[in-house]
Amino acid sequence: MNKFFRSFTFRLTLWYALIFCLSAWVAFAVFYFLIDAEIEKRTDEALRRQVDEIERIYQLQGIDAAVSIARIQAEAAGEKRAFFRMFYRTGVVFASANLSRWNRTAMNRAAIRALLAGKRHFLETQRLEDNSGTVLVRVIYRRLGREIVLQWGLCLEQEQALLASFRRVFIAVMAFVLASALAVGGFMARRAMSGVERIGRTARRITENDLDARVPVGRRADEIDELAITINQMLDRIQSLVSNIRRMNDSIAHDLRSPITRIRGLAEITLARADRMRPERKREVLEDFVRMAEDTIQECDRLLEMISTMLTISRTESGIDPPERRPVDLARMVERACELFLPVAEDGGIELRFESAGDEFVVRGDERMLQRMVANLLDNALKYTPPGGKVVVSLDEKTPEMVVLSVTDTGYGIEACHLPHIFERFYRGDQSRGSIGAGLGLSLALAVAKAHGGRIEVESAPGKGSTFRVLLPRA
Ligand code: ADP
Repeated sequence: MNKFFRSFTFRLTLWYALIFCLSAWVAFAVFYFLIDAEIEKRTDEALRRQVDEIERIYQLQGIDAAVSIARIQAEAAGEKRAFFRMFYRTGVVFASANLSRWNRTAMNRAAIRALLAGKRHFLETQRLEDNSGTVLVRVIYRRLGREIVLQWGLCLEQEQALLASFRRVFIAVMAFVLASALAVGGFMARRAMSGVERIGRTARRITENDLDARVPVGRRADEIDELAITINQMLDRIQSLVSNIRRMNDSIAHDLRSPITRIRGLAEITLARADRMRPERKREVLEDFVRMAEDTIQECDRLLEMISTMLTISRTESGIDPPERRPVDLARMVERACELFLPVAEDGGIELRFESAGDEFVVRGDERMLQRMVANLLDNALKYTPPGGKVVVSLDEKTPEMVVLSVTDTGYGIEACHLPHIFERFYRGDQSRGSIGAGLGLSLALAVAKAHGGRIEVESAPGKGSTFRVLLPRA
């Protein structure tokens, strides 16, 4: 219950009802005061016409005729509705209607003074305590001649009854408005919040370790649906990162085991042999130990290299370490890389050539990372090309904004079944080639290309060769 009162739905409903009722109340209040003002205006006009007529009779036929016409008209209006008094300016009444209901109405001195000061008439509202409650009486004063004052009063009972029934209707309508505002507000708030609840439910499921769950996306394409889409995209990314980490953990466990086992084996064999040896063969033992130490260092270096490459890939892919954004002259960099690999190519009896369609290939990025990418591609091309083959590295532009770096070899090529996987971490194609790669070279190359806003395309014909194309945006 407490949770419900703190909920956004409840607060939204309350605000909605409040604003709805406030608007209705303001509309009613304006209407009420307009009606009230209109009633008073009409009453005052009627009173003015009344005293105008009596004044005219007084001017034409004198005071007696004025008194009798006033009596006739007060009686015609009804003793309970209208009354009049005629009095001298001293306050002495000399004629009046039947005042049995009105004897407590006052003759206002301020009114008399105002008339004597030259005002044509004076209007006021008097309150009268009656046995039926408080009644309002609208009173007008008019001067007849120099000495006489005419006071005419009109009871506002009917008008008050009208306003009272208006107020009753108002209260009934307000109760209805409040109830419907709560109902409609509640409905709308629930509708608006249903999407948020949907997202909340999914988030709870994910917290309970179901990374496959997705927020259902509605068909309205509103803000909630957009939020759902964004959250789903975020979940996709998280899931892919998590599964990458999982895959990497498996690979680490699997791939680090064999070099470590080898190191351990070497050490064990050497020790066993040392145990069996006679003391006079100490010199030979020493040589064995030296060889073992060398092998161990080599294996350890390989391991360290592998771990550091894995870390670099992870960091580059996750965006933890965004690459620097310095201008890099790709033509010069690739040329230097080719020079570095030339001895390896010569050793393998492979022709290595660099061709550039110009020398203005500047990209923005991290030179060291780009160097590693190029080196990995070159290393692969030379590794997977038999003696007598050819490797051509070339630079060209695909569009004015895109630079293409191609590494083409006439090597073994890649079977179609391996092709979709070669960029995966630790994936090694045809193992019979006996290469000693860790299966990380292309993963790193792709991570670097992506981090620089580019991509890598590959084309390969088994037995004929492969072409790797790196597309990078120009600086
Ligand atoms: P590795 O350390 O095994 O070279 P890579 O990630 O660099 O790992 O490459 C993955 C796999 O892709 C390789 O094992 C190989 O089968 C294949 N490959 C990569 N480059 C070439 C190439 N130029 N020619 C043929 N096969 C290649």
